[in-house]
Order: sequence, then C-alpha cells, then structure tokens
Amino acid sequence: MEFTGENILEFGKHFPDDKSCLAYLSELKWSKGFVCTKCGHTKHTVRKKNYARDCNRCHHIESPTAGTFFHRLRFGQQKAFGIMFEMMATTKGISASQVARRYGISRTTARESEQLCKAV
Ligand SMILES: [Zn+2]
Repeated sequence: MEFTGENILEFGKHFPDDKSCLAYLSELKWSKGFVCTKCGHTKHTVRKKNYARDCNRCHHIESPTAGTFFHRLRFGQQKAFGIMFEMMATTKGISASQVARRYGISRTTARESEQLCKAV
C-alpha cells in the first residue's frame, strides 16, 4: 500500500474521516475489478454508506476491510490509517511505544498494528 502525500497534513486532507478511508480501501481492494468470493460473479452494487459491494447474483456483501489489516483493528479506519501512515512514512519506522502514546492505544495493540502493517 502506498500513499502519495508525504506529510501528515496532506494526509489528513485526503482522509478526513472513516468514509474517505473506506472509499480508498475499496478502490485499492478492487482495483482489478470485483469478483464475488462466494460465487465468482463480477456484477455488483456499491453501497454508498460504507463502500461495501453487494454481489448482484447471490447478494453476498463484502466490506472493503474484510480480510485486510483494517478489519482486525478494533478502532476506526481513520485512526488505523494514521497509524499506518506513521509506520510507513518514517524511514527508520516509528516505534510501537511512540505510536501507542500518540494515538492513545495500548502498546500491545501498537505492536500488533506494526506486525499487520508489515504483512500488507
Ligand atoms: Zn456472489
């Protein structure tokens, strides 16, 4: 995953809320087109509320975060994006304890996020 903007202010403008993060994730996840994980159908409807995609054949609904890093985090997408940005933008990488302090999350969660980031 890559962000074009390099500073946190620009980043905040791109992703002011969870919805914009979901829109981005949706684009990223289905950049090669949507294929239903249940029946393999490609025609779908995008739900405006949360950018989930609804298969036109079997009506299986898949959220943009399903099976990704974001799905496993217990806080909102915007916060998760911020944390990921910090971890990816700094060349040396921000330490888990710094992230924990800055975002008010536990160190365990921060370390978990770090591992998930590396797995993206
Ligand atoms: Zn389907």
